[in-house]
Parts: sequence; structure tokens; C-alpha cells
Amino acid sequence: MGRMANETLKAELGRSAWRLLHTMASKFPYEPTADERAAMSDFIYLFARLYPCGDCAAHFKKILAANPPDVSGREGVSQWACKVHNLVNERLGKPQFDCKTVGDLWMCGCADDETPSASLAAGPA
Ligand code: FAD
Repeated sequence: MGRMANETLKAELGRSAWRLLHTMASKFPYEPTADERAAMSDFIYLFARLYPCGDCAAHFKKILAANPPDVSGREGVSQWACKVHNLVNERLGKPQFDCKTVGDLWMCGCADDETPSASLAAGPA
């Protein structure tokens, strides 16, 4: 497979993975139980360990070591995910995202989403 095709697949995987991570964060309980906090923490470390793009995973593990996940609740984990995504953005020369607005962005279309928005159908740009 050509280099461009590989880059396209890597970017598509990245967008899907970020969508899953940010959307899970946006649905995480405001006041999680100890079990829910442990589950989110385990998920994040396993996500880094099993992420199928090897060089991405290696770099992300270093980001994770320097920025342990904040699994205290929805706000904490959403801000943490935004921060680590920005560290990846920085490395790739992409613009920084304003984490103050992250709460409005990621919805799953699940029955308990509070305000369905236009971004639901298309997803973030
Ligand atoms: P993405 O970065 O995929 O973001 C998707 C959308 O999320 C954006 O359009 C924007 O609406 C929103 N967004 C952007 N920043 C934030 C933020 N900080 N918080 C919340 N929402 C935000 N690619 C590589 O080439 N090399 C790597 O080493 C690499 N490492 C990666 C590590 C991980 C853990 C992941 C999940 C992906 C990695 N990728 C890597 C893929 C890369 O991050 C992008 O997903 C890919 O390049 C596509 O970028 P994009 O511009 O479409 O937007």
C-alpha cells in the first residue's frame, strides 16, 4: 500500500479513536464510583497500550506517563482528554483546540444526550 493511503488510514483511525475517547469522557458520570473511576483509568491505559498505530502508541504512552488521566469525574476526564489531544496536535503541527468549549462538542446521539446539535450528524470537522 502506498504512503498516501497509509497516511489516510492513520488519520481516519485517529479521528475515530479521538471521537470514542472524547465521547466516552463526555458521558462519564459527574460523580463516578471508585469502580467507574478504575474502569476509565484501565480503559485509557489499555487504549494507549493496544492502539494499533505503533509509533502513535509509543508516543502516546509517554504523554500518558507525564499526564496521568484525571478520572475524578466528567469535567476532569474531558479536560484531560482535551489536553492530551492537544499534545498530539502540537507534535503533528495541528492547531490547539480551546478546551473551554470541549463540553459542547462531543455527543453520541444516545437517548440521554441533553441537546442534540447539528454537529451530531456530521461530527466535528
Ligand atoms: P483529529 O486530531 O483526529 O481531531 C478530530 C476532531 O477533534 C477535530 O476536527 C476537532 O474538531 C476535534 N479536536 C481537535 N483537537 C481537540 C482537542 N484537543 N480536544 C477535543 N477535540 C479536539 N497521527 C500521526 O500521524 N502520528 C502520531 O503519532 C499520532 N498519534 C496519535 C495518538 C493517539 C492516541 C490518537 C488517538 C491519534 C494519533 N494520531 C497520530 C492521529 C492524529 O491525532 C489525528 O487523529 C489524525 O492526524 C487526523 O487529524 P484531524 O486533523 O482530522 O483531527
